[in-house]
Amino acid sequence: MANVVWHKNFRILLDLTRDDLDHPEFPGLWDLIYATDRFYGRRGVPVSERDLQCGGVCRDMGVEAPMHLRMRGGRREAVHERREDEERHSVPMSDEHKAYQERILRAAQEGGFGGDSEVRTRVGRTWIQTDTLIEGADGRRIGWEVQLSTIDERGLRGVRARAGKAAKNGITPAWHTDRLAYAQRNDTHWTRSDRLPAHVIARNGDLRIVSGFRVLDFWHCDTGALYPCPHGVRRCGKAHATAKPRDVLFDDMVRQTAAGTIVPIQFRAGKTVHRYWVTNVDRDRLEDLDSDDTRLPPEREDTHATGASRNRPTCQPATAPPTAQDSPPPDDFPATRPLLTALPLQPAAPAAETTPPTLETAPPALTQREAHTPQATDTTTGLPSELITLQQAADAAHLKLQQLDDHSERNLQRQVWLQAAEATQAAVTHYARTKRLNRYEVEARLRRLVRHPAP
Ligand SMILES: [Zn+2]
Ligand SMILES: [Zn+2]
Repeated sequence: MANVVWHKNFRILLDLTRDDLDHPEFPGLWDLIYATDRFYGRRGVPVSERDLQCGGVCRDMGVEAPMHLRMRGGRREAVHERREDEERHSVPMSDEHKAYQERILRAAQEGGFGGDSEVRTRVGRTWIQTDTLIEGADGRRIGWEVQLSTIDERGLRGVRARAGKAAKNGITPAWHTDRLAYAQRNDTHWTRSDRLPAHVIARNGDLRIVSGFRVLDFWHCDTGALYPCPHGVRRCGKAHATAKPRDVLFDDMVRQTAAGTIVPIQFRAGKTVHRYWVTNVDRDRLEDLDSDDTRLPPEREDTHATGASRNRPTCQPATAPPTAQDSPPPDDFPATRPLLTALPLQPAAPAAETTPPTLETAPPALTQREAHTPQATDTTTGLPSELITLQQAADAAHLKLQQLDDHSERNLQRQVWLQAAEATQAAVTHYARTKRLNRYEVEARLRRLVRHPAP
């Protein structure tokens, strides 16, 4: 038996514990569905070909489990057709799982965040079932799902769909496991701890996340760099990021994801989409690397001037990011804004620190490029020198942004670059319109001219 039934054709979940099945908008729904099911029964229609499936654990695990309805002692009941589906409901939650749920709630509470276990969030006509849901700062909701080695692989069916649905509905999915094979999947942002008994998980002592969290090493692609350029054999002079695994305390992870100071990112490398957690400071800086005039980063609210954010995390992460505590945009789950930067996948740190060029010694892109471009109108492309100068200025501002290490300096420089980029964009639009040219082609020509000047 189960209390929640999925109606295949109506595409709604029915809550049998409620008189109106939790659908006040459809009066008489139970009578209709029960009568229909009885009618199917009398006609000898197999349960699997009728309208109803288990909407509880079975559906959560991506299993289509046919059900039929009956009345027992005046109570409405939905019955699984197959015994194996019924058994899925009776598997008791392991002590380890319960210990994790309690630990998540306790860690969150110590950080000033509330939460609850086994939460059902109404989403339109269906629900999202969350193992442990933490209510974080600024309306942020973190949906913890714990999948331990005590369950079998069937529990992993539909992970991507479930995580995606949660993310789409404002719940940042945080899946945690103690099994290596799960942690290596990249269907969601998995974190992993060592396999531990319940009494250790329940204790207050150190519980470490050993995979799933990374720090980004930002470096400059010059002759002193120890990593190879991800874009080619030669040095490109740009800034790149390399992700390095780093342990983080489980309790910190719970609090900082709620505070928004640890955030999920994803990026594509070849055919694989990699997903892991980083500090919001690293995420912001990666966006600065990844951004472009035509794909400007989202506006960020910088809380530096006004002081700390409303919900400070109670402790700094092991990675000790800079002092910034700025609030990410509410839609900080990256499914909607994938980061496409090609991160090279070296787990090892460089043997020595590479010294980034200071701003004064950095190649003065603007002057260098001016040598290639005449002042009035470029002879090969016919583009006005005003456009060329604007694009050069924007590119120089962007290069400077990518080379800055200091968080607040980057916030200022980002504004400088955004203004320069917007001015360029506006000028390109104006020029294309006046000359009745294709705007996209003008922009592409301009960039080719400025970024790849003919030798
Ligand atoms: Zn079921
Ligand atoms: Zn490079």
